[in-house]
Amino acid sequence: MKKSLWKILVVSLTLVSIFALTFAFVACNPTDETPDDGNDTPARHYYTGSAKNVIMLIGDGMGMEHIEAVKAYYGLESLYMESLTTLQGEATTRSRDNEVTDSAASATALSCGVKTDNGYVARVDNTNVENMAEYASSFGMDVGIIATEHIGGATPAAFSSHAYNRSNGTNIFNGHMASDVDIFISQFDDDFYIESRLSAIPQNGFTHITSLAELTENQYSSAKIFATMPEFDGYGEDKPNCPSLAQASMYAINYLDQKSDNGFFMMIEGSYIDKFCHKKDFAGMASELRGFDEAVKAVLEWAAQDGETLVIITADHESGNLVYNPGDPFDGSLITTGDHTGKNVYFFALGITDEDITQGIVLDNTELNHIMRDYIANPRKAK
Ligand SMILES: [Zn+2]
Repeated sequence: MKKSLWKILVVSLTLVSIFALTFAFVACNPTDETPDDGNDTPARHYYTGSAKNVIMLIGDGMGMEHIEAVKAYYGLESLYMESLTTLQGEATTRSRDNEVTDSAASATALSCGVKTDNGYVARVDNTNVENMAEYASSFGMDVGIIATEHIGGATPAAFSSHAYNRSNGTNIFNGHMASDVDIFISQFDDDFYIESRLSAIPQNGFTHITSLAELTENQYSSAKIFATMPEFDGYGEDKPNCPSLAQASMYAINYLDQKSDNGFFMMIEGSYIDKFCHKKDFAGMASELRGFDEAVKAVLEWAAQDGETLVIITADHESGNLVYNPGDPFDGSLITTGDHTGKNVYFFALGITDEDITQGIVLDNTELNHIMRDYIANPRKAK
């Protein structure tokens, strides 16, 4: 080989090496971009709005087509969650380890703002993560937890307790007792309320209320309230000693509003939408969903009057792969699986002022939590 050819070869190899080293350096250089680890955890975005009170209403399992089918079933143009809110978008639902979430992981996303694996309650791997009851009370806010199921359910559990697994009722119950929640209203359950748990309720400073009559007679005392109702009325029902979810929600709002100088956070769950879907019971699902919408109406009307309350209504996931086309019979045949799906769900809101949250936007479900946290933190002093 001639000397000049050697020179060209050496120069070329040097240039290639420089390129290779440059790319290697860029690839290793840490940037502020979160690496894509496939877990769908976006970099934290901060929101600018403010709220005195924050209320999140969760229709467990309430998919988009559930809403369409229920409107058609009752002959309605729109539900209150659509007509009384100012913003509608979609939320993703997947958990950290599964495209199809369970209620524990999705409630953790909505309460804690982080993705976790299915089954985990306000916990990621070996670590508890701050739930909404803890976050709100760290700002001196009061807290209410309302569900049509018992408080051992995964959704209420992730808002004011923690557990390695959703089936760990003892950890969940003890977490609720130790929390700063001021009022619980939920369903009584024979299996969950074993003797030691019933006796722990007054020991932890709660007044235990067991019927609608007792609830309405109780004059918003400053004592902490733990109400276990026999059941909740679905739409159009009037079972003895049972409130509707709207009645329970308004009782808790009035209780917290007269008590809280620094605002309150409340989570309200329509728990049985999902449970009826698991049983492919369309009429039961529709009654629970419309009962939930009646609670949404009461809350939105109160919030519109109040003018300082952020309300977010959403679902934790879709349940049943419900598919509705006009003319379909309103029965279990609309519910095509007894399981959850990975479909997006709607969210509706009143009180969001951030202009980058636009009509029809699709947000990761953890963003709904970040909105609530920022709207709480912005007008208040740093913790
Ligand atoms: Zn379910």
